[in-house]
Amino acid sequence: MAFELPALPYAQDALEPHISANTLSFHYGKHHNTYVVNLNNLLGDAAGSSQADLEAVIKDAAGDASKAGVFNNAAQVWNHTFYWNCMKPNGGGAPSGELAAKIDAAFGSFDKFKEEFSQACITAFGSGWGWLVVENGELKITKTIGADTPVAHGQTALLTCDVWEHAYYLDYQNLRPKYVETFLNELVNWDFVAEQLANA
Ligand code: MN
Repeated sequence: MAFELPALPYAQDALEPHISANTLSFHYGKHHNTYVVNLNNLLGDAAGSSQADLEAVIKDAAGDASKAGVFNNAAQVWNHTFYWNCMKPNGGGAPSGELAAKIDAAFGSFDKFKEEFSQACITAFGSGWGWLVVENGELKITKTIGADTPVAHGQTALLTCDVWEHAYYLDYQNLRPKYVETFLNELVNWDFVAEQLANA
């Protein structure tokens, strides 16, 4: 068995003008694919194929220095698949229903949530990820560095923004704050985020 690169949930040019087809051709077609290839090469016959297999590999390798390569590639495969699903063409706007109520309760308002989520994304030093997660029933904003993922921390991911430079440099150069603002205002698929909350 082997892990496969999941299909993108939209065409490579579907997020234009906010994220270009050029960025997605590298980010999905090269970076994400390379993590899949590397992971299969590292695991050999031990490679699985399902999402549950992937999460088991991540949890097994987390915190084990001798499995750092497996952890980094497995976590990056998981994080990227999740990130693609967090966006859609004509996304953005505001969440509704249970999700909106939980965001208001946890952060005061949707605007406060956006401010705190943006700060996490902007201040992740170097390469990393900004997250909205559920931990012990509570919504929480976090950031992770490198490949690190909520899957390794007993948290359920609801939303992520990839803030590695490869996610935005072709379209925004060094302007990470502008990319994060665009991600929130134009791209987030709040229906997907609400589904993650419902399944948490
Ligand atoms: Mn990436």
